[in-house]
Amino acid sequence: MSFGDNDMVIVFAMSLQRIALISIAVIGWLFCAFYTAETANSYGADYTFWLLLGILTGPLSVPLAVLYFRLSGERYRRRRYSVDGKSDLPRMVRCLRCGEMVPESFERCQFCGAPIKKRTKLI
Ligand SMILES: [Zn+2]
Repeated sequence: MSFGDNDMVIVFAMSLQRIALISIAVIGWLFCAFYTAETANSYGADYTFWLLLGILTGPLSVPLAVLYFRLSGERYRRRRYSVDGKSDLPRMVRCLRCGEMVPESFERCQFCGAPIKKRTKLI
């Protein structure tokens, strides 16, 4: 048996398949990271920190973040003891000038008065 054109096609197809699988894995990994960051942010935690943690730990970060915030979060406590089962805590954003966490609905930072920029959604 010689290493002919047919074999080259098979090798090429296999490497394409490998590239496709790796791409899907990377996209899934990043999706988990962003999901983790969004979850963390909705509980008032730092978006960037959890995004980095999500990138480092990938799919593991999702149950980690969900469990962490469910078990420890102020939002969860409020939801648990609230009347309609919904949290009354607003989504928080970080003020770009002073770094304090401010409710997303605010026009201006309550600490330094800087206008609050609405974070554009990544996904
Ligand atoms: Zn501020």
